[in-house]
Amino acid sequence: MFRLSAVRLSHFLPSLFLLLCGLAAAYVRDLSVFFTSLFNVLPTLVLLLGGAYCAVYRRQRELFLMVTVYIAYFLLDTQTDFYRDNGRVREDAAVVFHLVCLLLPMLFGLFGAWQERTHLFQDMVARFAVLLAVGSVALGLEQSFPQPLLAWLAEIRWPSLHGQWMSLIQMAYPVFLIAFGLLVVQYLRQPRPLHATQVIGLLGIFWMLPKTFILPFTLNIMCSQVMLMIAAAVSHEAYQMAFRDELTGLPGRRALNERMQRLGRTYVLAMTDVDHFKKFNDTHGHDVGDQVLRLVASKLSKVTGGGRAYRYGGEEFCLVFAGKSIEECMPHLEAVREVIANYNILLRNPDNRPQDDTQGRQRRGSAAATSVSVTISIGVAERQMEHRTPDEVLKSADQALYSAKGAGRNCVVAYGLENKRGAVRTA
Ligand code: GH3
Ligand code: MG
Ligand code: MG
Repeated sequence: MFRLSAVRLSHFLPSLFLLLCGLAAAYVRDLSVFFTSLFNVLPTLVLLLGGAYCAVYRRQRELFLMVTVYIAYFLLDTQTDFYRDNGRVREDAAVVFHLVCLLLPMLFGLFGAWQERTHLFQDMVARFAVLLAVGSVALGLEQSFPQPLLAWLAEIRWPSLHGQWMSLIQMAYPVFLIAFGLLVVQYLRQPRPLHATQVIGLLGIFWMLPKTFILPFTLNIMCSQVMLMIAAAVSHEAYQMAFRDELTGLPGRRALNERMQRLGRTYVLAMTDVDHFKKFNDTHGHDVGDQVLRLVASKLSKVTGGGRAYRYGGEEFCLVFAGKSIEECMPHLEAVREVIANYNILLRNPDNRPQDDTQGRQRRGSAAATSVSVTISIGVAERQMEHRTPDEVLKSADQALYSAKGAGRNCVVAYGLENKRGAVRTA
């Protein structure tokens, strides 16, 4: 259920950075006129730019998260402006503030955990309907029954659970807790930059609300930062989609093309191809084939000697060794070929999963467990006088790979040395 192996600190870093910037900025006292004017327009600016960006990329979920944060900002900003100008709060300040403390985490958690599944237009209508319904009920109650609503919101229902540090209404805390739980579980099930950002964004909101009337511009700064985080997560994911291969997690063909543009004068390229993979797929099925590709990719990504692995396409991978000669790379390529050839892959059969760790361990040792193995062939070439461009070197590596297949597979062959010392045959 949880994909802990896909959890990355890098998913959190951009939002954590923005959160820390927001915290630091919020504590600055005596801001210059320049910054006060900037913070006054920043949330609207971020919403317009970030919202347009999300709309262009058709990211409804992020758009609605931003709109929710902006509405909360707008409602509270009216109150803080009044407070700043008059030195006292408006008479509806308490009820508006408490409503925001309750509804903002609720809607943020809901829109964050609500993934786009249906048709884009229907999805938008449904989200809009939820926002409108919640907004109108809240507004209607606030206009018609301000006093009973305030009493209901401010009531301490569980005195034994009420800590001194709790400066928001008591009911806001379980709502925050549920929203955090939802978003954390969502991240652990599907570790993605956006899901990480939502957790950090909610943390920012949780920090911001109690400080709204205490620290000047906390509201403007933190709401802008949370909306920026969401826009940054959309770009982060767009970058990943373009440059990362989804199946294996390795950088993909586009990333390789970009890397090849700035390789300098000395480098080695190695093309690797899984042997008889078509037959493997036919025998064990495409899903098992995918599992094996992931495993081969993970072994190739750990190649020593400074190599970096890319998925070239299908069951072909390219290893780039910048600043290295072919002699330096051969032992490392040979080592990774051997690691893959010697690795017994235990097939994960969903109908026949071990019930506990002990059973799993027993099965692993027994001959009854289905284990398979694959081999790879590698063709390798370095930059030379006769082939200077990366494309030419790649073509040479491909030719060497062809020779490796001809030489019986499961071996490393260097271009130009097919029949000499560079050809390592270990089939
Ligand atoms: P050779 O040893 O000559 O390389 O034989 P081969 O069967 O590996 O060669 P070929 O390139 O003809 O076959 C590649 C196969 O790889 C075809 C396709 O079924 C499989 N394949 C390509 N991409 C994927 C993928 O993403 N997942 C799975 N499961 N299979 C893939
Ligand atoms: Mg192939
Ligand atoms: Mg192949």
